[in-house]
Amino acid sequence: MKEACGVFAVFAPGRAVAQLTFDGLYSLQHRGQESAGMAVSDGELITVVKDMGLVSSVFDERTIECLPGNLAIGHTRYSTAGESTWRNAQPVFRSAGGMGIALAHNGNLTNTSDLAEDNGMLPGVLTTDSDLVVELLATAVGRMFPGSNMLKEAMVEVLPRLEGAYSFVAMDESRIFGARDPHGFRPLCLGVLPVDKGGEVGYVLASETPALDVVGARFIREIEPGEMVVIDESGVRSIRLPVAMGQEPHLCIFEFVYFARPDSMLYGTEVHGARRRMGEYLAAELPVRADMVMGVPDSGVPAAEGYSKASGIPYGQGLVKNRYIGRTFIAPQQEARVAGVRRKFNPLRESILGKRLVVVDDSIVRGTTTKAMVKMLREGGAEEIHLRISSPPFRWPCYFGIDTPDKSELLAASMSVDEIADYLGVDSLAYLSLEGLQKAIGVPGGGFCTACLTGEYPIPVEETALRREAVLAHSISSQRNTIVVDHVGSI
Ligand code: SF4
Repeated sequence: MKEACGVFAVFAPGRAVAQLTFDGLYSLQHRGQESAGMAVSDGELITVVKDMGLVSSVFDERTIECLPGNLAIGHTRYSTAGESTWRNAQPVFRSAGGMGIALAHNGNLTNTSDLAEDNGMLPGVLTTDSDLVVELLATAVGRMFPGSNMLKEAMVEVLPRLEGAYSFVAMDESRIFGARDPHGFRPLCLGVLPVDKGGEVGYVLASETPALDVVGARFIREIEPGEMVVIDESGVRSIRLPVAMGQEPHLCIFEFVYFARPDSMLYGTEVHGARRRMGEYLAAELPVRADMVMGVPDSGVPAAEGYSKASGIPYGQGLVKNRYIGRTFIAPQQEARVAGVRRKFNPLRESILGKRLVVVDDSIVRGTTTKAMVKMLREGGAEEIHLRISSPPFRWPCYFGIDTPDKSELLAASMSVDEIADYLGVDSLAYLSLEGLQKAIGVPGGGFCTACLTGEYPIPVEETALRREAVLAHSISSQRNTIVVDHVGSI
């Protein structure tokens, strides 16, 4: 599974914000490693810089110095709809009504083709759902009488027409905006930033709280599902979208299991602590006699520590991870994935030789990498391998901003737990229950999307319609020769 983007925005009177945006994006690198970009405004002109690659390879000191301004938005991308190309890197930008609009998106819309059809947009013009949203905003702005609130009014008009998952940050020349879909699938938080000039206060929006910490901002609150905030010199104004009334929140439960950084706070709970408790519940629900508990680095480690604590079985390190390989890497073929595991992990043979191991990981999706990792541990001398997974079986695809394979490629969709254990070559396999997972997170009242575990999608999704969305995204992205889009202000 791949994360699907990190977003960041900052409004800081009197401060040059390009460096802050770089720092914020750097801390959100785990959410997307294909491309990075930022849009910066000096109050009159928005400049967009974006490119393929990691934040540190897209931006250097010279580029940052060439981006004056005190408001900005930024993005790290992993593609879920549309190809991984420069064209699809974000922020996306349009000029309309004499102003610039830049937008960055974490999530995935589920009614993209209907929106495109309803608005007379032909295939070949737009390549991603984010591109479509900025086009809708530009169209709405273009119909308005000139005024300072045009982008706000355009967002109020356009957002209720969107279905699916979105956490947006957006900007014009003098304001930043943040918005979360009515279900709140993807996180977005607000922080306050002390600024030097005259005691004025700046604000930051970010996918995860570590991006606030790194720029010295203090967490205020999460943006509510179905809420839009407008931030300018007069402060923060909150607008509730009418479509959000009566909706239950559905934050992606995998933000806790895997996607978010361990030092992130979600629903007031630290992710690392939740992952440790997942391991404790796993040990209580699914005990086994063993000599050592180890985690699959990095996201399996906290749950392994929790399993060790609750079971009394000593914790040890059994795999070394190459730190210079990104958390995700593009390896579309099965063989390449297996080779990728060898590049990424190597066993600590003395630690595992002759031992009965409890190996804790966060999830199994296709199983290819897990199978290769199990083989590696066997070759390293492990006597027994008891695989424990700190989430329930992943049986259904995600349509809300996470790149998961088709259902036919999900191991748990077609195999029983015993069959999966045989396929992976482990001595035993067990998954944490959904109840155990929810108790470990410890957020009362639910509030999670669990569709990939239960098949209960918070937004009714019809398989064929969703496949059509995927086909549309593909066919659009393969017609890049016909795209005529003017990125005014981009360099
Ligand atoms: S389907 Fe799964 S991965 Fe997708 S948003 Fe829901 S919980 Fe998260």
